[in-house]
Amino acid sequence: MSGEKLRLVNPATGELIATMPTASAAEVAEASARAHQVFASGVWSGRSPRERAAVLLRLADLMECHAERLARLDSEDAGKPITECRSGDVPGAVESIRWFAEAADKVFGRVAPTGHESLGLAVREPVGVAAAILPWNYPLAMAAWKVGPALAAGNSLLLKPAEATPRSALHLAELAADAGLPDGVLTVLPGYGSVTGTALARDPLVRALSFTGSTATGRRVLADAAETNFKRVSLEMGGKSPQILMPDALGFGDELIDNMIEAAFLTMGQNCTAGSRVLVHHSIAEEVLHRFTTAAKGLVIGDPADARTEVGPLVSRAAFDRVAAAVDAARSAGARIHSGGLPHGLPARGAYYPPTVISGAPEDSDVLTKELFGPVVTVETFGSEDEAIRRANATEYGLAASVWTRDLDAALRLARGVEAGVVSVNAYSEGDITTPFGGWKQSGFGGVEKSTDAFAQWTREKTVWIRSR
Ligand code: NAD
Repeated sequence: MSGEKLRLVNPATGELIATMPTASAAEVAEASARAHQVFASGVWSGRSPRERAAVLLRLADLMECHAERLARLDSEDAGKPITECRSGDVPGAVESIRWFAEAADKVFGRVAPTGHESLGLAVREPVGVAAAILPWNYPLAMAAWKVGPALAAGNSLLLKPAEATPRSALHLAELAADAGLPDGVLTVLPGYGSVTGTALARDPLVRALSFTGSTATGRRVLADAAETNFKRVSLEMGGKSPQILMPDALGFGDELIDNMIEAAFLTMGQNCTAGSRVLVHHSIAEEVLHRFTTAAKGLVIGDPADARTEVGPLVSRAAFDRVAAAVDAARSAGARIHSGGLPHGLPARGAYYPPTVISGAPEDSDVLTKELFGPVVTVETFGSEDEAIRRANATEYGLAASVWTRDLDAALRLARGVEAGVVSVNAYSEGDITTPFGGWKQSGFGGVEKSTDAFAQWTREKTVWIRSR
């Protein structure tokens, strides 16, 4: 690894956790050449899907044994509450690896409806060298969504974790080696986006690249791929997801408020599917605002290492400044801040920002239109379904949405009308590992994660035509 070092800083304390070497462009080229060699050798790609599954199932078991360590690494590096890592990120990552391992020998090719004299097959083959670029907000979970299907399909994978959170990916690779994954099949390349990430996006041997991160970086990655070897690119990007509450929504009682809080403030709102825009029917707006604000004020803010903590620090001081500036601008433009807004009474060290609820923001303000990636939620009202749909779709993003009502007809109309890759009804949810996950509009491009559909990102289809003579 090159002389350039990553500095890992604990967002809860501002203290240096570790420094770490990064992969230079030359080191990325070496790693991809080696991955190419390993792929061609057949040591992994040539094994049967069942044999690959056995190794990945051992990896899932090892992750379970090392769950506490994996949870601590992500919690320390990203400032995520340890309880979230223990109960969500790590079990979710184990499940992903296990599910894709089990799926390895259950995804079939196709047979074309030809005449008797020929046989047309469409078979799926690994792409060869594949790459994945990860964000910092769900470091292990996002790694697992990519490692599972990429390796189950037989590829050699180059994995670049985000600058702030490389340690769980490195630990995952160690566990994979212990599980029997051959050398050079999974290579973790910590580094800066502008160097290591760019080198991967431009690498001529990488045939498929799966990226999760911001829309701005996704655009850059796609351009780099287009300018070089047209590697297949899949992008999972940002969101500005609405939570739509119909007139009967309060009938769900505390369940509604609990779900709204989770949607808004999980991982301090630094979540691609964060329900950062509440759209509520005007007839119940006052009560919803009151109950939601009260619940937001009651969240336990503190040290992410403490199991009682529900809200930790933002990932960095820069993130804090960005969020604070957007809230200040909304306040100056006449918006009302119902909770949060100012970091009073928070831990003195670390980038803590309180759960913040805003109403009355102008339609073109950043808090309504931009992905803030922080614990900030706007509340807007609507009078009709058409207005709810119009407001829900008034963004360039289209990742997720939730709808709350027991009126099945209204739920169906809203689910159909909202432009988003995932719409959940009477829940805040992305579905489970069996359901496809991908964004519409500027939230996603080129492929989905989870479900057997995820294999399409990591395989290419070949037609084999056999003619009897
Ligand atoms: P980011 O775009 O800043 O960075 C993501 C990754 O890209 C990092 O590993 C970074 O080093 C790398 N990178 C940066 N510049 C690059 C370049 N020029 N070429 C190649 N790689 C480069 O995003 P982030 O701040 O780490 O993550 C937050 C974003 O991720 C948010 O927008 C969030 O919505 C999104 N996200 C989306 C999903 C999803 O599934 N849709 C999931 C999690 C996060």
